[in-house]
Amino acid sequence: MPRSPDRRIWIDGTPVPWDEARVHVLAHSHARGSLIFDYLSVHETPRGPAIFRLREHAERLQASAQLVGLPLRQDLAALETAALETVRANPGATVVKLSAYLASVEVDVVPLDDHVTLAVAAFDPVEDVIRAKGREPAPPRPVRLWIEKLRRNRREDIMPAQAKVAANYASPMAAKWAARREGYDEVLLVDEHGNVAEGPTTNFFLVDGEGTLRTPPETTVLHGVTRRSILEIAEHDGRKVLEESIAPEAVFEAREAFLTGTSAGVWPIESVDGRALPAPLPGPVSKELHKRFEAVTHGRDPAFEHWLAYVNPA
Ligand code: PMP
Repeated sequence: MPRSPDRRIWIDGTPVPWDEARVHVLAHSHARGSLIFDYLSVHETPRGPAIFRLREHAERLQASAQLVGLPLRQDLAALETAALETVRANPGATVVKLSAYLASVEVDVVPLDDHVTLAVAAFDPVEDVIRAKGREPAPPRPVRLWIEKLRRNRREDIMPAQAKVAANYASPMAAKWAARREGYDEVLLVDEHGNVAEGPTTNFFLVDGEGTLRTPPETTVLHGVTRRSILEIAEHDGRKVLEESIAPEAVFEAREAFLTGTSAGVWPIESVDGRALPAPLPGPVSKELHKRFEAVTHGRDPAFEHWLAYVNPA
């Protein structure tokens, strides 16, 4: 039976019931894809719920605003306070979505009313979105990946990959539909040179024959917070890591590979273009990093505790 989540969304400082948090169909954010956003995770820790790397996410929202030219008014402290307050007001939330958008219905690409609305939602995507609609989430499984076969020309005509702006998801959406039609779960996008870049909402890693962890460079991908965290944890643990261009052929030679993201965590890859990767699933490095990342996000690793913003500080 569909139901409405009992959640309040913080809109420019006012808590608005979930069902009333709407924009006009003609809103600029909707018509021009100008909405910028960031998506954060909340984890249970021995010191209560904590937001993972809140500062980095708030900084990335500001970077997206700057790349798109949106006059976002909130400074880092205001963004962080809004996120923490919203989680406090919505117990049991597992994610936070920060959205900043032009609600104006003017047709001009730069409206006269340039007020940027900030909306902060804290919720549980399984309970409040999937189960609220009377559905069950698909069980997690290793991903059957497909490498995009068209070189992306989007670099030249839309925003840089580092902007988390709605418009940037149109090209990955088309690529993912194509992957789905071919019978795959997920697509690995390529850059303008044909090297692999990232998934539509994830970053990509492989483990090569020497056991080195490799991921495409920051110039071609969104600066994923999970990507950066995995690199830092792996280096801390003494693992060799490389951020450099990866040709599709190198993916087929990988021992194991995985995707990373706030929703995906560390998501093992089963096969690429129908060819199974050699390591048993999940591969030993993917498995270890998954375990390490879980420990860090759940406050069980003092070396990385500074990445947690406690929702109810003592
Ligand atoms: N790439 C893109 C294009 C994304 O949308 C995301 C999701 N934010 C990621 C990578 C992974 O980033 P993060 O680890 O910060 O969730």
